[in-house]
Amino acid sequence: MAIKGAVHFDIETCKGCELCIEACPQDSLALSKEINKIGYHYAVQIEDNCTGCTNCALVCPDAVITVYRQSKKKGKDKREEVARISNVRSDVSISINDK
Ligand code: SF4
Ligand code: SF4
Repeated sequence: MAIKGAVHFDIETCKGCELCIEACPQDSLALSKEINKIGYHYAVQIEDNCTGCTNCALVCPDAVITVYRQSKKKGKDKREEVARISNVRSDVSISINDK
């Protein structure tokens, strides 16, 4: 069974601290050339080699990353959310589903 990961960034909230970039063992991430509404270069996925390890989401101080894993079983693609760290009005909640 092949496992492939993907990450989603809330780019308007990212402050470009680069912690996620340093934490990624796959070198999948980089800062964008563009800036967001609050004036920062934001993190983006630049390589299609993410494993869904969740390291980036766990180190992000602004809780803007959601990690997905996609498994391919008998020709069917199944994508599931494995880590979402949300920060709503400074009330940070962490959800990890690491089966
Ligand atoms: S989930 Fe892991 S491999 Fe994927 S971008 Fe984040 S740190 Fe890199
Ligand atoms: S760790 Fe979070 S705030 Fe820092 S660059 Fe990555 S996504 Fe942006």
